[in-house]
Amino acid sequence: MKPNTCPACGSDKVVKNGVKPDGKQNHLCKDCRRQFIIREKKPKE
Ligand SMILES: [Zn+2]
Repeated sequence: MKPNTCPACGSDKVVKNGVKPDGKQNHLCKDCRRQFIIREKKPKE
């Protein structure tokens, strides 16, 4: 599986950009500078 990728441009130059008050991890693409939330995978039981 690939690491986090930008949903806008597909770049993998994605960095964490803080956490929203609701606990969602915010990310920033260093290529297109868009911010987005990546849904964390649920761990397998
Ligand atoms: Zn991007």
